[in-house]
Amino acid sequence: MTKKIPIRQQVQNLASDTAAVISGVVAGNGIFVSEQEQWNRWSICKSCEFLENTKCSKCGCFMEVKTQLAAVECPIGKWKKVNNGQVPPCDDCSAT
Ligand code: SF4
Repeated sequence: MTKKIPIRQQVQNLASDTAAVISGVVAGNGIFVSEQEQWNRWSICKSCEFLENTKCSKCGCFMEVKTQLAAVECPIGKWKKVNNGQVPPCDDCSAT
């Protein structure tokens, strides 16, 4: 069983993600990713050991929602935020 994230940390994560979304919009990256990118992200989450139902036990976020947002990323680098319309490779993907 994974360790639960304290509510205080979840609120801080939500505030941080909200700020990232606003910054992304200001930078012209938009709010949402494409359906294809959302599907890619969600597929990674669904096979991740840290997903509990639809909630990530690393960040405390509901991943069906978070995976739609362009300016946020996986807390352990399994998928990245969109930057200037480009999707950088995940940490494992870029290690080769
Ligand atoms: S955001 Fe990252 S750590 Fe959380 S469930 Fe998805 S892939 Fe796993």
